[in-house]
Amino acid sequence: MTDIPLKLFNSLTRQLEVFQPVHPGEARVYTCGPTVYNYPHIGNMRAYVFADVLGRTLSFKGYDLTHVINITDVGHLTDDADAGEDKMEKMAAQRAQSIWDIARHYTEAYWADIKALNIRQPARWTIATEYVPAMIDFAKGIAERHCYELDSGLYFDVSTVADYGRLARAHTDEGEGRIETVEGKRNAADFAIWRKTPPGETRQMEWDSPWGRGAPGWHLECSVMSGAVLGFPFDIHTGGIDHREIHHPNEIAQNQAHCCTNGLDVAANSGANIWMHNNFLVERSGKMSKSAGEFLRLQLLIDKGYHPLAYRMLCLQAHYRSELEFSWEGLGAALVRLKRLVMAVEALKTRHAELVSASIAPSDTATGEKFAPFLERFGGAVSDDLNTAIALTALEEVIAIKKVDAGDKLAVIAAMDTILGLDLLTLTRADLRIRPKVATITEAEIDATLALRKEARAAKDFATSDRLRDELAAQGVEVMDGDSLGWDWKLGE
Ligand code: AMP
Ligand code: ZN
Repeated sequence: MTDIPLKLFNSLTRQLEVFQPVHPGEARVYTCGPTVYNYPHIGNMRAYVFADVLGRTLSFKGYDLTHVINITDVGHLTDDADAGEDKMEKMAAQRAQSIWDIARHYTEAYWADIKALNIRQPARWTIATEYVPAMIDFAKGIAERHCYELDSGLYFDVSTVADYGRLARAHTDEGEGRIETVEGKRNAADFAIWRKTPPGETRQMEWDSPWGRGAPGWHLECSVMSGAVLGFPFDIHTGGIDHREIHHPNEIAQNQAHCCTNGLDVAANSGANIWMHNNFLVERSGKMSKSAGEFLRLQLLIDKGYHPLAYRMLCLQAHYRSELEFSWEGLGAALVRLKRLVMAVEALKTRHAELVSASIAPSDTATGEKFAPFLERFGGAVSDDLNTAIALTALEEVIAIKKVDAGDKLAVIAAMDTILGLDLLTLTRADLRIRPKVATITEAEIDATLALRKEARAAKDFATSDRLRDELAAQGVEVMDGDSLGWDWKLGE
């Protein structure tokens, strides 16, 4: 499973490439993190599930992984190009709170989602505001040859680097899709790397710089944090597909300028060898939009009774480069699929424990051979640009193999789960029960009533049994006699 070469789709070359680390035995990965002005929606979290699977795959293949994710707490405007207000300043003003409080609250909420989705901690979370002096140094280094100053700030001249925008699909020379809002820009696609505080205004977050008091541009932040921690060039840079159009082309332009100025490489050095982008999670009714009142946060799924790993399963069922449509039915189906896996593992654990306590030797000593083709299929799938959809079916095929030692099978499942991250060895059926937060009845109460009902049925007192069932139904609890998945009950919404 580990010796199959890892092929990844590089958005820069638009083809699959065999992963060749810059530093032998190592993998250095940078993932664009959230702007912490609001809760992440589940679409945002798809970007981190994808980056997590990438990281887990690299670790599994034996690379010493250094993964960095940033937290943007300054500089990201409401428009990805140069229009609009700073998202953080805007939210702080709306809430009459300090930016630092806003940033702390939403960073913690984001970290809670990271944990709930079983996304591994990166080696480093880089916080943008902690890198402002490094950003000023970086900007100083490229300013003379690549930038020009306007009243509103320091701008990057995209005509000073080779082949600007080669990453973007929608790019034209006019800078398609951009709103020309800044007078004096030399090219429509030029962007601010330092934004001066307008005269007469004070911002909550501002710093002194050679270009006046102000704040760094969002694109500058990622160039600086990635280069500072991972060194240019590093291996892989990831983000959502929207970043392929503006944010990453701008990062690349800055990286080229920086690397060129510092004699690090040829003019084409884009900072990272491979640029990878996950496609979007979409939802028809617009509930993904953070401006739409109740939007699709992970906590909403949890409140409606879904275990967060059902959402991880939903993500894994699709290829990261395909658009994925969210629906509650789809989430329910992903939960059921996860539950089937968990039930199979529970049965294997019981069987294994029986064998161990009875000191029975495995019945089939040649089990390794039986697993080999499935491990090969699993390894081939994840090595083929992280095809988790096929990897999942290989896992299910392993579960279906007959006449193999339960302990060996568990070991194979555990190995596969180090990449999938579904927590299959520790989750229980009970963890996966659908239990909405609005429910007033407790699990203990449900279990107690069900125990009484069991007694009544054993005594053939069907009138009492039916009454108890109706009582539960009146409180939203559906009793599920003889359910093929082993659900005892579920709570309706
Ligand atoms: P932001 O906090 O807006 O910078 O976004 C955080 C990450 O989520 C970025 O990598 C975005 O590209 C990504 N992203 C935004 N919307 C979606 C979506 N609907 N589906 C998947 N990824 C998304
Ligand atoms: Zn970024």
